[in-house]
Amino acid sequence: MTAQRLTLVIAAHNEAAALPLLHPRLRAVLDGLDDIVGHVLYVDDGSTDETWAVMQALAAQDPSVGTLRLSRNFGKEAALTAGLDFVDDGAVMLLDADGQDPPELIPEFVALWREGYDNVYGTRLVRDGESWLKRSTAAAFYRVIGRLSRTPIPADTGDFRLLSPRALQALGQLRERHRFMKGLFGWVGFRRKALPYHRHSRMVGDSKFGFWKLWNFALEGITSFSTVPLRAATYLGLATASFAFVFGMWVIAKAALYGDRVAGYPTMMSVILFLGGVQLIALGLIGEYLGRLYEESKQRPLYLVDTWHAPAVAHSAVFPTAGGQADDHGTAAVGRQVS
Ligand code: UDP
Ligand code: MG
Repeated sequence: MTAQRLTLVIAAHNEAAALPLLHPRLRAVLDGLDDIVGHVLYVDDGSTDETWAVMQALAAQDPSVGTLRLSRNFGKEAALTAGLDFVDDGAVMLLDADGQDPPELIPEFVALWREGYDNVYGTRLVRDGESWLKRSTAAAFYRVIGRLSRTPIPADTGDFRLLSPRALQALGQLRERHRFMKGLFGWVGFRRKALPYHRHSRMVGDSKFGFWKLWNFALEGITSFSTVPLRAATYLGLATASFAFVFGMWVIAKAALYGDRVAGYPTMMSVILFLGGVQLIALGLIGEYLGRLYEESKQRPLYLVDTWHAPAVAHSAVFPTAGGQADDHGTAAVGRQVS
């Protein structure tokens, strides 16, 4: 059997402290895998600390390390997309830079890949170091999106996963600007398999996802993978209109029978306010979708590359512009065709 290729893609934003702790673990795991040509691709998502320098130091020590620097902070989803775009061949595995996704499990992912699965995703059994609030809102989110979306989005699943070469190629075709990766992985389909694991706390540093960011992330997920809220607005409108009609009949009948004594200021106010509220909610909803449509229509690239260093020793098929032999970590900024 010829050796299979596997690239670990790691997006990092201000993880200078975590990467030196993570890399030896990755190295040990890759060295322990038989018949695998392993590479590591670090993506610096516009860090403002020493992350890029740390990545360069790791690449200098370890010739299987490639580094990619984006022109600014584009967010984790775009950073992962960039990393995946720079892997031309073989399977990929996505991990967080903070060590929350234990690299020691990679052999299990690889074993499932060898059994023929295309999309092996880690499902969190326990989440250390995360608040009750975060866990319960996450659970609620997966329930809501599970109901609203027709694309299968497994619960308690992050980006920790292995994609087979064909799943990677398929994902590369999805170029939408609003990227809800969990949904995109599900959309691709193929043979999926969950791998339960214990999610540890961060090795160092703080989470970059605060409550507000997670809320926006949830909105992103729902609007990207479901139009049910738009339909719900229609039904809400219909229900309100029916109620208003019945109420109107009653008002007319009452006036006809008992005369109109121009009372009912409270009813009038509550009806006006209620209808105003319903209309604003529906407008806001439409706005959410319209705004996303607008973003998509601009057709901007998903990210811009500042610097790309292919691994010094890279299999020629795996990375763009990588010679078979050590190149001098050429500094040319290669803009991948991002259409
Ligand atoms: N990350 C990134 N760009 C960002 C924010 C985060 O590449 O704008 C990376 C971060 O470096 C880490 C991963 O995404 O490797 C997960 O981030 P974090 O640990 O902050 O999120 P959490 O694990 O709390 O969900
Ligand atoms: Mg984390």
